[in-house]
Amino acid sequence: MNIVWFKRDLRVQDHAPLAAAAALGPVLPLYIVEPEYWQQPTASLRQWCFTRDSVRALAQQLAELGQPLWVLSGHAPDILQRLVQTHGVQGLYSHMETGDDWTFARDQAVKKLGLPWQEFRQHGVVRGLSIRRGWAEQWETLMAEPQAATPALQGPGAGPFELPESLPTPCQLSIAVQPGGSLAGHQLLDSFLSQRGREYTRQMSSPLSAADACSRLSPHLALGTLSLRGVVQRLRATPAPDALWARSFRSLDKRLHWHCHFMQKLESEPRLEHEALHRGFVDLHAEPADLEVIERWIEGHTGWPFVDACMRCLKQTGWINFRMRAMLVSLSAYHLWQPWQIPAQRLAQRFVDYEPGIHYSQIQMQSGTTGINVNRMYNPIKQSRDQDPDGEFIRRWVPELAGFSADWIHEPWRAPAGLQRKMGGPVPPPIADPVLAARQAKQKLTAFIRQREMGDEAQRVLSQHGSRMRQTRPKYQRTSTDTPQQTLDF
Ligand SMILES: Cc1cc2nc3c(=O)[nH]c(=O)nc-3n(C[C@H](O)[C@H](O)[C@H](O)COP(=O)(O)OP(=O)(O)OC[C@H]3O[C@@H](n4cnc5c(N)ncnc54)[C@H](O)[C@@H]3O)c2cc1C
Repeated sequence: MNIVWFKRDLRVQDHAPLAAAAALGPVLPLYIVEPEYWQQPTASLRQWCFTRDSVRALAQQLAELGQPLWVLSGHAPDILQRLVQTHGVQGLYSHMETGDDWTFARDQAVKKLGLPWQEFRQHGVVRGLSIRRGWAEQWETLMAEPQAATPALQGPGAGPFELPESLPTPCQLSIAVQPGGSLAGHQLLDSFLSQRGREYTRQMSSPLSAADACSRLSPHLALGTLSLRGVVQRLRATPAPDALWARSFRSLDKRLHWHCHFMQKLESEPRLEHEALHRGFVDLHAEPADLEVIERWIEGHTGWPFVDACMRCLKQTGWINFRMRAMLVSLSAYHLWQPWQIPAQRLAQRFVDYEPGIHYSQIQMQSGTTGINVNRMYNPIKQSRDQDPDGEFIRRWVPELAGFSADWIHEPWRAPAGLQRKMGGPVPPPIADPVLAARQAKQKLTAFIRQREMGDEAQRVLSQHGSRMRQTRPKYQRTSTDTPQQTLDF
């Protein structure tokens, strides 16, 4: 008998380890609840809620295939060793994981058991890669390969099912806005490809429209309730009814590629969980993090109304769009001049879709520590006026400002004193003046860079991690009946 260890791949469709193990004989499908993992500073109850629902859905799918899922709680190497001793297990099958230091150390401990372990790729991430040349092409090849067939199963029958409703984790915020499980993932993909996705590129930047216009597939890709290859193939097989749809499909396709492009960075250089990718920036901050400032930022009490609205929305729903994630991190790194490590952990806890490879790579990119990306310092007032001109989003999430009109809601501390009094009293100034704070950050950065030789390391980062995407993207065809048939070559 072989164990199929489900980790961040909670599905039965396109599951290569399951198919390979089932072809050899009896299978014991296993999920391990690892209490120590859930104690990590990036973990949260909301992530557990999504995971728990997804494990339940997986258990049902496996039971329908003929062999129920076993769920055990504890230290993975101990559990696996026990199963080897009690059930005569011959081998271990799983997908590769690009995780953080903790999951890497756990996998190393599992390897030491000496149990033959076959790991399969589910993403375009390549192990042991030192240079990016040819990476985009291999991603295309993997995505085009046939999906693994879903097998019928035979095995030891029903076993333990220790799936706690709740778990103690550092962040006890729970959330049930996005339901877990493959079915929920497929429903999101269907609704995006048939209804929600048309305005994707136009509406992805404003938090007012993004929650509905974006695919919302991220937690499903992070937990593997959907196969990335399955999503790519489905997207590419869907005809685009018009030019706007074609643009949306192209845009989503590009992002599915980014998913693995960013994960590859952590796989190739795991130290970026803790250290600046460009080594020249490792000692950028002489001062330690100011925990009070970080607390105001993460809790949505900076006094920048739009920023606070984004943070409170994230706290409540577990999701915020890309542009706002980038803005939140840039404000913490530049305007508030905080080292990125603690903010990265605090944000990760809030995301239902926390994916270490994407998360740390993006955090570093938005914090200016990669040495190869343009440094973007967002002005929170400009973003507010651009993305929420009427102040609707602010009013929804910062109710204490709901009475202010669009003229004043972006900077209520500047409103006439009489108006402020009418709204409940003087509005305190924000945590920092955005223009002044950005100018100071630029000066500090420039002075820091001038004192160092940064070029060689930037070259190294570029060669190891830079994107070399060739035009291998597919052409999305317009198939509308009211417009001429046309191929859009992007
Ligand atoms: C500071 C910061 C931290 C982030 N942390 C995470 C994280 O922990 N987990 C995560 O999945 N995404 C993360 N992202 C990327 C991005 O914001 C989310 O993937 C996206 O907002 C999820 O919503 P969606 O599924 O509707 O995205 P869509 O726009 O519908 O995109 C579809 C899929 O493409 C991938 N994708 C989209 N944008 C990016 C991107 N910029 N980089 C890499 N992959 C992308 C995701 O898998 C996403 O689900 C982060 C971005 C920033 C700036």
